[in-house]
Amino acid sequence: MELEFFGAAGEVTGSCHIVRAADRQLLLDCGMIQGGRDAQARNRMAFPFNAQALDAVVLSHAHLDHCGRLPLLVQRGFRGPIYTNRACRDLLPVLLKDSAKLAERDAERRNRQRDGGDEDIEPLYTVADVEKTLELVRPFAYDEKHTLFPGITARVRDAGHILGSSSIELWVEEASVRRKLLFSGDLGQYESPILLDPHEFHSADVVLMESTYGNRLHRDRDATEVELGEILMAAWRDGGNVVIPAFAIGRSQELLYLFAKHFKDWRMQRWRIFLDSPMAIEASEIYWRHEDRYDEEARHLRAGFGTMPPLPNLVLARTADDSKAINAMRRGAIIIAGSGMCTGGRILHHLKREAGRRECQIVFTGFQAPGTLGRAIVDRSEKIRIHGQQIEFAAQVHTLGGLSAHGDQHDLLRWYGSMAERPPVYLVHGERESAEALAVELRKIGATVTVSEPGLKVELANLPSRAGQDAVD
Ligand SMILES: [Zn+2]
Ligand SMILES: [Zn+2]
Repeated sequence: MELEFFGAAGEVTGSCHIVRAADRQLLLDCGMIQGGRDAQARNRMAFPFNAQALDAVVLSHAHLDHCGRLPLLVQRGFRGPIYTNRACRDLLPVLLKDSAKLAERDAERRNRQRDGGDEDIEPLYTVADVEKTLELVRPFAYDEKHTLFPGITARVRDAGHILGSSSIELWVEEASVRRKLLFSGDLGQYESPILLDPHEFHSADVVLMESTYGNRLHRDRDATEVELGEILMAAWRDGGNVVIPAFAIGRSQELLYLFAKHFKDWRMQRWRIFLDSPMAIEASEIYWRHEDRYDEEARHLRAGFGTMPPLPNLVLARTADDSKAINAMRRGAIIIAGSGMCTGGRILHHLKREAGRRECQIVFTGFQAPGTLGRAIVDRSEKIRIHGQQIEFAAQVHTLGGLSAHGDQHDLLRWYGSMAERPPVYLVHGERESAEALAVELRKIGATVTVSEPGLKVELANLPSRAGQDAVD
């Protein structure tokens, strides 16, 4: 009975942990490593386990840093079931097909640039690998227990991070020894728009917990909404456009939701709102269908709108021509486009046109990694380069801190704090600094904490069983 850390140990991306019990090997997540110069090479490296020998994967949610290497696992011989919940199952094709297309385009580009003698560069995986992967997905409903194999039972609970995000409970039994493992997945903020709060647990024998913002406190949500409203008011007065780089899954839907919620008080009817991302449009349609996962306020709001989209002045820009048509608008447009950190995608075309205009407002809603164009803009670089063209930067820049999809230190402590027995914690999915800061706070409330590292193994039978009756049922 063993747990081994492989990815997102000592860093944020590449979530992947291995559980060995009852003669089976399971993976929790199989995520892509993102950011950093060596990410590409690391994603291509051999797994430290035999993909063919794995029995199953349990997937926490449809973000690439959690599911992005599943097609690679399948390409390398994995044929077992991939368990997750239904909403995550619906989002997976959108995300993975996009990822495969990017990988195929990237390989093509690099093959064009390489010297004649070098070998052909294969894409990390292809759309065909993704198709095979999707066939293996076995969705669960939330809150139901499922026996995966004799001696291994799983249940997924809402993690409140994006639609279809889960915390995973795993009960394992071997030679009459039973243990309950709890994997937080990525945890959302409490009281975030649309989604339910993260499920609170009362017991476990060992906890794997994310620590992305273990050293940060977010700005208050209400203050953030007020700030967004004020930016839109000021933008209308200045007579320019508003450009919002946003991730396709999660943030884009949250923004549309806030526009709909404040339709009257923010006087939204005078704008034309463009969702300029085929992937965000698909994800929004899936969000729209899953009202079973909404919180009270969102259900109420959803009931007031008969059709998707919930905004009468929302324009869904699916094709490249739809996107180009936005260019003619000099004022009155709110443009949501990806990528979220301005590393590619349609947002670049809009920034190229708008960044030099004083009356334009650029609104960031998420973390901007070092080295990205988004970061350069947030840091107010005077000159930026887009598609090789230098632009004198003049637009006004705003960062909305409170819209993060991740809980902050208070949220994380609240989530863990509901377990009175204080089971041992292994921190994952965080830069070392933030994991260490969270560890200090967790120890103050009586937890035994380890910041995980790749290759670290935990013998589960050696842990005291604290979960008691819950470990059995
Ligand atoms: Zn996530
Ligand atoms: Zn993540």
